[in-house]
Amino acid sequence: MTQDKQTTKNLVIIGGGFAGSTLAAKIEKQLPKEWEIYLLSKTNFVTYNPLLPEVVGASVLPSHVQAPVRQMVKRTRIRMVTVDHIDYEQRKVFYHNNEPGELSFDELVFAAGVAANTTMIPGLHEHTLPLKTVGDALQIRRQVIERLEQATIHPDAVRRKQLTSFVIIGGGFSGVEVAGELEDFLCSAQRYYKNVRKQDCCITILHGTDRLLPELTEKLGKKTENIFKKRGITIKLNARASSVENEKVILSDGEVIEGATIICTIGTATHSLCQSDKLPIERGKIVTQPDMSVEGIDGIWALGDCALVPNAQDGKLCPPTAQFADRQAKFLAKNIVAKLKGKATRSFSYKPVGMLASIGHNKAVAEIYGFRLSGLIAFMMWRGIYLLKVPTLARKIRLFLEWNWTMFFPPDIAHMGFKRTGED
Ligand SMILES: Cc1cc2nc3c(=O)[nH]c(=O)nc-3n(C[C@H](O)[C@H](O)[C@H](O)COP(=O)(O)OP(=O)(O)OC[C@H]3O[C@@H](n4cnc5c(N)ncnc54)[C@H](O)[C@@H]3O)c2cc1C
Repeated sequence: MTQDKQTTKNLVIIGGGFAGSTLAAKIEKQLPKEWEIYLLSKTNFVTYNPLLPEVVGASVLPSHVQAPVRQMVKRTRIRMVTVDHIDYEQRKVFYHNNEPGELSFDELVFAAGVAANTTMIPGLHEHTLPLKTVGDALQIRRQVIERLEQATIHPDAVRRKQLTSFVIIGGGFSGVEVAGELEDFLCSAQRYYKNVRKQDCCITILHGTDRLLPELTEKLGKKTENIFKKRGITIKLNARASSVENEKVILSDGEVIEGATIICTIGTATHSLCQSDKLPIERGKIVTQPDMSVEGIDGIWALGDCALVPNAQDGKLCPPTAQFADRQAKFLAKNIVAKLKGKATRSFSYKPVGMLASIGHNKAVAEIYGFRLSGLIAFMMWRGIYLLKVPTLARKIRLFLEWNWTMFFPPDIAHMGFKRTGED
C-alpha cells in the first residue's frame, strides 16, 4: 500500500462499530469539502451486538445483525484494516491488512471499543465460549446443537445429562438474554431429539453480585429471577468463578458447577491502542474531557466503549452501551465541526430513554422513562425499538420478516460445518 499524499485535511476514525460508523454518517454531512473522512476498521460491517443472543438461539440469521458500513455512508472512505500503532509526533496512523500502510491525520477519533479479557480467570480461554462477535454466537449455537446430537445417541443417562447442561458465566444483559434464548431453543428443538428430555436439560447462570441485570432496577432483576426459576433455569447469585476446567466451573467457595458447554459473557480488557503513555488512561479506557476531546494532544477525540466520557446530565461517567455510543457519536460530530469552525464545543449530556432485556418465551423486562414493564408488551416494545435502530432499511425488513417467521415455524437445528472440502 502506498502512503497517502496529504493534499487535503484528514479526519481519521478508528473503529467502525456503533460509535465510529454513526459518527462517520453524521459528520460527512457537516464537514467542509476540503476535509477527507477515513474510517479504519477491522471489519467492514457494524455488528448489532444486542441481537447476538438471538443468533445463538437461531431467532435471527447472523447476516441480519451485521450492516455493511459502506451502505451507511456516502462520502467517507472505508479501509478494512487493523490499526497497529499511532505516531502522535508525526500525526500518522499505521495499519495493516495484507500489507502495511499509513495515513496522516489532522483530527483523530478513537472508537475502537474494548477487547475481550479471556485471561481474567484461569482456564477461561481454554474451556469457555465467549460472546462478543457473530463468530462467537455461531460457535455457541453450533456447540449447543452438537451437544444435543451427542446426547441423543449416548447410552448413559448420567452422561446425557452432563451433555445437556449449559453454564453461563455472567448475569448481566448478555448472560440473561442468552439464557432466555437458549431455553427457548431447547424447548422447541427437543422434540427432534427423542432421547433428550426437557427436564434433563439444565441451564445455570452464575452471577457475581446479589441480583441479575444490575443495569436495571432491583425489582426487574428480581422479576427476571422469578420468571427464570419457574422455567427451570438455575440462578446462582454471589457466585464468583475462580477457575474453569474441562466441563466445570470452580467457584471461589469451592463449589463445582458442571456443564459440557460453558458460555462466558463477562470480561473486557484494555484495547492495545489505548496502552500508550501519551493518552490519559483510567480503568483501561481513554479519559475524555466533557466535549469528548482528549487532554494533552490537540485534535484527538474518543467515544464509545473505549472512552470514559463524563455525562453532564448526571455528573457520572457514561456506561458502555450502544445507546450511549450512538448519542455520543451524534454529539461528537457537532463538536468536531464546531472546533474546526473556531466555535465553542459543548459538554456531552444525555438522559437515557431506558433499558430493555429480552428474556425468552416472547417476554422482556424494560424500564422506559422511569416506567417498569415486563411480559409480552415489553417484548413487543423491545422488538419495535431494535427494529427502528438496526441500520439500513433492507435489514429492517429482513429482520421483521424473520422474526415473524420464527414465531410460526420450527427452529433451525442444522449443525453448521465450518470445515473446508478435504478436511475431516
Ligand atoms: C453480546 C452483547 C450484547 C450487548 N447488548 C447490549 C444491549 O442490549 N444494549 C446496549 O445498549 N448495549 C449492548 N451491548 C454493548 C454495545 O454493543 C456496545 O456498548 C457498543 O457496541 C459500543 O460501540 P463501540 O463503537 O464503542 O464499540 P464496538 O461496537 O465494539 O466497535 C468497535 C469497532 O472497532 C474496531 N476495531 C477494534 N480494534 C481495531 C483496530 N486495532 N483497528 C481497526 N479497527 C478496530 C472493531 O472491528 C469494531 O468495528 C452488548 C454487547 C455485547 C457484546
